Amino acid sequence: MNEKTFPLDAAALRQLAERFPTPFYLYDEAAIRANARHIRQAFAIFPDFHEHYAVKALPNPFVLKILADEGFGADCASIPELILAEKAGMRGEDVMLTSNATLGQEFATARQQGAVINLDDISHIDFLQKTAGLPELVSCRYNPGPLKDGNVIIGKPEEAKYGFTRQQILDGLVLLRSKGVTRFGLHTMVASNELNADYHIETARILFELAVEVKEKTGIRVEFVNLGGGAGIPYRPEQTPLDYKDLARGIRAAYDEVIIPAGLDPLGLHLEWGRIITGPYGWLVTTAVRSKSIYREYVGVDASMADLMRPGMYGAYHHLTVAGKEHAASTETYDVVGSLCENNDKFAVQRKLPKIDVGDLVIIHDAGAHGRAMGFNYNGKLRCGELLLRADGTVTQIRRTESIDDYFITLDFAALESFDATAKGTS
Ligand SMILES: *Cc1c(COP(=O)(O)O)cnc(C)c1O
Repeated sequence: MNEKTFPLDAAALRQLAERFPTPFYLYDEAAIRANARHIRQAFAIFPDFHEHYAVKALPNPFVLKILADEGFGADCASIPELILAEKAGMRGEDVMLTSNATLGQEFATARQQGAVINLDDISHIDFLQKTAGLPELVSCRYNPGPLKDGNVIIGKPEEAKYGFTRQQILDGLVLLRSKGVTRFGLHTMVASNELNADYHIETARILFELAVEVKEKTGIRVEFVNLGGGAGIPYRPEQTPLDYKDLARGIRAAYDEVIIPAGLDPLGLHLEWGRIITGPYGWLVTTAVRSKSIYREYVGVDASMADLMRPGMYGAYHHLTVAGKEHAASTETYDVVGSLCENNDKFAVQRKLPKIDVGDLVIIHDAGAHGRAMGFNYNGKLRCGELLLRADGTVTQIRRTESIDDYFITLDFAALESFDATAKGTS
């Protein structure tokens, strides 16, 4: 069980919505910091622990700066994400580039910033050397293939596009060493939104065993393993959150069993968690603007799938509460919908909720990761802004709402004026 909370009471939220019209995202700095500290404490049982926050989950530099202040680095997959991490003050090996189908410019930017490059494929070794030169430290992403069952979002590893096979890991590390690389890491990511601690412990064991096999077969001693992201959050109230201490202890038991006897201690333990770091501490706040009664009861809100696409894309559950009606009985059954001309633009389907009146503020929970970041402009929808509730209770706007000018910025209307739509060409 987990209780769905919101950091402001209804009156304070109403005041905030007068200052910043809905829809908006609100993130809770104190809660994000407390969470970061719990993670650091739990994983302090490892000799060398690092969390590289997956920037794609919440690519806002203000939030990244808070995470940097808590000692976290970043995991990036593009040049803009590398720039965001740098702007937030994350430096050198605190930043990782874990990308696939990587372009030369992306490698070059990561090299310039001194970020750790995590290769997705054995062919990237030569490509990296040609495009950016080889750094002293290189990490390789392992795909365990049929060794490991997948989970719902990522699927089966052997069907996943990522990573090296086991033999390629061995061959790749030897090739890197022959080219002068002296420091090595291993990475894998085989889960998404996984709430079962055993799954993550098992993933760690697979990497620990691989590190031992690498040592035995090649003589190469890797300096860290990186378990990637994929730690789940309890989107549904009846689900139970991961217990950091239990999880860390479980991974530590595998470490003691596999790494210590092999003489590989100290080995770094790295994570690239995204969702679990900020997900539960962000909310999408929207206003009920319409209600309609046809074959079902609908509540139309001023946010849409363009602001939060997880329900439409994955059928994902996000808990909804109505400000001021948190304890009211759920007497109604609603579809809560956005205004997109797509019938999957529904934040809730046949959900039991209290009676919602036009003007009510509807709070969509667990939207602090893979929320605003996955937004889009389909149907001419403008993505909403982001607010940060500071630890002192004040609220700072950390991204404004998009304007119509933002939407048109890639178009040249002057060129349109002189564009001859009647010209049919000559050939
Ligand atoms: C998406 C992603 C993450 C973060 O995943 P979460 O589910 O948000 O923890 C980490 N690493 C890589 C390589 C990713 O693609």
